[in-house]
Amino acid sequence: MLPSSEEVRAEVRAWLAENFKPEMTVGDWWDVLARSGYAAPTFPEDSWGRGYDRVLAGIVSKEIDAAGAIGPPSGLGYALAAPTIARHGTELQKQTDLLRILNGQDAWCQLFSEPGAGSDLAGLQAKAEKDGDEYIVNGQKVWTSTAQLCNLGMLIARTDSNLPKHVGITYFKFDMTQTGVEVRPLKEMTGRAMFNEVFMDDCRVHADDIIGGYNNGWAVANTTLMAERSSLGSGGSGAAGSAFPGPMAGHLDKPVSDFVGQVRDGGTTGGGMGMVDRLIALARQTNKNTDAVVRQGIAKLYTMQQIGNYSALRVRGGDGSAAYANIAKLMMSDMLRLNREVGNQVIGADGMLMGVDTLSHGMVQELTLFSPGPSIYGGSDQVQRNIIGERALGLPKEPGPDKTTPFNELMSNATR
Ligand SMILES: Cc1cc2nc3c(=O)[nH]c(=O)nc-3n(C[C@H](O)[C@H](O)[C@H](O)COP(=O)(O)OP(=O)(O)OC[C@H]3O[C@@H](n4cnc5c(N)ncnc54)[C@H](O)[C@@H]3O)c2cc1C
Repeated sequence: MLPSSEEVRAEVRAWLAENFKPEMTVGDWWDVLARSGYAAPTFPEDSWGRGYDRVLAGIVSKEIDAAGAIGPPSGLGYALAAPTIARHGTELQKQTDLLRILNGQDAWCQLFSEPGAGSDLAGLQAKAEKDGDEYIVNGQKVWTSTAQLCNLGMLIARTDSNLPKHVGITYFKFDMTQTGVEVRPLKEMTGRAMFNEVFMDDCRVHADDIIGGYNNGWAVANTTLMAERSSLGSGGSGAAGSAFPGPMAGHLDKPVSDFVGQVRDGGTTGGGMGMVDRLIALARQTNKNTDAVVRQGIAKLYTMQQIGNYSALRVRGGDGSAAYANIAKLMMSDMLRLNREVGNQVIGADGMLMGVDTLSHGMVQELTLFSPGPSIYGGSDQVQRNIIGERALGLPKEPGPDKTTPFNELMSNATR
């Protein structure tokens, strides 16, 4: 049986008082946090977790915040690779790879999308060919967020083209630092180059680094995608600042205090609960708080957030739709667009300026430039609607090739 909220609050508070010291380095703190089970409290106990539900996990986050500490590592290792290994990993992978994600020693990127395989991800062409105990990997990935800062990747590659396209795929832990990997940045309209093209030329991966079994990569990748959709749909934790993990970001040896208050994933893109409060404060500052259209926009945003929260509570109570993660992700895309519209109504012509010395300290401007992204990544809005239609509403599937056709017999340059 789960402990009560009060019990968890008291226990975490006492644990933090004993174990967190502000002068600790990020690496030392993350290690203590991971081994305590508080870095990933919703994971099972055999996977460095405590088996909590999201409500209890939220209490842990808030207590970490209140103690002036930072939460677990940010990035896709924690958000995506960790839940995937917790579900599909071997005992050894849980004891080593999972721990190294939770304590920030490794940083992982997601090597899924390819130039010809985004929405139709199972049409991927990157190949991993068996060579003794190893596989030789050749191919290209694209839109790989933070690849330039990651020493490892969640790679899905085709291991058997004689099998149907969803079957002949394997999921690997892939060493991004090896010879043959080339990471080329792609510049976004935000001015940054967060994502990249990744080229793999005769790279190697050991059979021990298969996650979830040979030719079982599609099922494993779906766990990753589900984690991505539900974390996006929840709008990020919004609590407990964090830092980027791994040996390349250079944060592990820095003091925790350097990162306190830095918003975790989701916070800067406006998905978190703080956005309504920030918009209200901004509207007061610009005297737009009496503007009927702005007021309606903020009220609508607040309503959508509440609906999102109630839906999440229904799921926690075991009463949610099978497509909850897809619905939540769609809702988040809608909320981001509404945030963008209302934010720009509030700041007016300042929306054309960038930088921290502008109205909203650049937050609305950043949000405006980034806002198209979330309706594309983790599966586009249209793809979410297809899944809801097929899996939750029982609508007929789109016409396509027979699912049993071997991959190498499918037409190329068309939806495989
Ligand atoms: C900010 C950002 C970060 C990303 N980070 C990563 C990452 O780290 N790792 C990674 O692997 N990928 C990443 N991606 C890639 C992302 O997963 C893909 O862009 C996405 O899956 C869509 O694929 P695509 O770009 O090839 O578009 P396409 O699949 O070519 O889609 C083009 C358009 O057609 C529509 N469409 C396609 N198929 C259908 C259909 N069957 N029914 C209806 N409409 C359809 C789509 O909705 C879209 O509007 C990122 C993308 C963005 C924007």
